[in-house]
Amino acid sequence: MLLKIVAVGHPVLRQTPRTLTPKEIRSPEIKDLIEHMRGTLRDAPGVGLAAPQIGQSLNLAVIEDRAEYHEAATAAELKERERVPVDFHVLINPRIELLSDSQVSFFEGCLSLPGFMAEVPRSHSVRVTCLDHHGKQKVIEAKGWYARILQHEIDHLQGKIYIDRMQSPTFSTLDNYQRHWKNRVVNR
Ligand code: ZN
Repeated sequence: MLLKIVAVGHPVLRQTPRTLTPKEIRSPEIKDLIEHMRGTLRDAPGVGLAAPQIGQSLNLAVIEDRAEYHEAATAAELKERERVPVDFHVLINPRIELLSDSQVSFFEGCLSLPGFMAEVPRSHSVRVTCLDHHGKQKVIEAKGWYARILQHEIDHLQGKIYIDRMQSPTFSTLDNYQRHWKNRVVNR
């Protein structure tokens, strides 16, 4: 079942979602929700989807960066972004630590703001402590693009959207991103 993705301006994107208990996480309702979010994320397609984006104020997000999504990028782009495939997984009740002193800036988009992108400074590496789909505690250490995806999704779980952190003058339609920004040397 494909879920409807809510767009920016919907109040649910600005609420702090409630945490889930390990017992709830193992319930058929949450198992189904995760499966539907997986299908919706692949259909979009996207690399991350947080429960508030499908109108559910729950502290849960799914992430998957498939190798086939990288085919549109050049080897240089992938290398610069330190982008490698990430298997499908769930983040529940995450806590994030930013591990880098300096930030890296790249363009990113969001399924709740279709058709737009902006340059967003993010920590190069992070440590995330969360529960997995079994309700078991898990620690993720990530860098590069995966660290960016984690920061973007965990922002959603704190009522934040990338436009709160973007370098505003870079905010672009997808078309203008391709035309004017894509090949610009980014500010590291
Ligand atoms: Zn998003």
